[in-house]
Amino acid sequence: MIIVSEDICKKVISRADAFKAVEAVFASMAKGDAYNFPVIREAIGYQDALYGFKSGFDKAGLILGLKSGGYWPNNIKKGLTNHQSTIFLFDPDTGQLDAIVGGNYLTAIRTAASSAVSIAHLARNNAKILGMVGAGHQSAFQLRAALEQRKFEKVIGWNLDPEALPALAKVANDSGLPFESVTRQEIGAQADVIITITSAHEPLLMKEWIKSGTHIACMGTDTKGKQEIDPQLIATANLFTDEIAQSISIGETQHAIEEGLIKQSDITPIGQVINGDHKGRVSDDEITIFDGTGVGLQDLAVASAAANLAQEQGKAQIIEL
Ligand code: NAD
Repeated sequence: MIIVSEDICKKVISRADAFKAVEAVFASMAKGDAYNFPVIREAIGYQDALYGFKSGFDKAGLILGLKSGGYWPNNIKKGLTNHQSTIFLFDPDTGQLDAIVGGNYLTAIRTAASSAVSIAHLARNNAKILGMVGAGHQSAFQLRAALEQRKFEKVIGWNLDPEALPALAKVANDSGLPFESVTRQEIGAQADVIITITSAHEPLLMKEWIKSGTHIACMGTDTKGKQEIDPQLIATANLFTDEIAQSISIGETQHAIEEGLIKQSDITPIGQVINGDHKGRVSDDEITIFDGTGVGLQDLAVASAAANLAQEQGKAQIIEL
């Protein structure tokens, strides 16, 4: 059994490794070779914490395990990250514990890899302007991974609290790109690719603001009641997701489904595009939307990659059980 700490995860796994792992598991999910088990998420009545498990099995990659953790809102006062998680990997042949892997850094890079996979497969090849809606903890990870997918020339961004934008501007500038703070309408008018990564509960982008041909990765909505974009925008776009069951219940399409604007059958798992079973984008004019809800198999995929890399590099702590 090995332990891979948060620090070692940061050292061993690259954005390219995370992209490869997440792309492969989305492909396995679409083939029916990998599936997520029902998610458990409970308010534990202590420290206002939300605690739960995400788990699944990838038969193609032989990855079995769970991510345990949640949200402790008071952590910030203790100098800790509010989101806390740990990933446990088991040997699918015997059920024995194989690895305990820190899940905080991996959650950020697997979420960034998810939107990056969507951009790689769905954005126009000539996309030049990247728009960021949200500038919280996840946003820098999202931006770094997205910038590697197309030859972007400029990044524009909006955040509820503009004081958080300079940190995002630094990421763009470090990649040699200019950054402009703009209105949400301006993001719609200019951006070829947009990432939304907020905790909003109301639409931040309206249908009439978005130009044709845009790809939008909606990454913030992962709970019932959250919302980032106009359901009318969802209704007119070519829709993709990581997992349909999550998309319609806790993801961005939940509102358009509730309002009867779309049906479940209007949404395509992105794995089908990766596998070549669905065309993906069919014209330079259409708007594509990826609803990245975040599935347990993504966590297991990057944890497995991190565990393998740590072992190869002699950086894993080995424990005899
Ligand atoms: P954070 O708390 O660091 O940042 C929150 C962001 O949301 C900030 O930009 C803030 O300004 C913005 N925001 C909050 N309320 C808003 C409102 N009413 N209107 C507009 N903007 C608002 O959080 P984070 O760690 O960056 O995560 C951002 C979101 O992504 C969260 O909702 C989180 O649950 C979600 N998330 C999704 C996945 C996934 O796999 N899809 C993974 C991790 C996090």
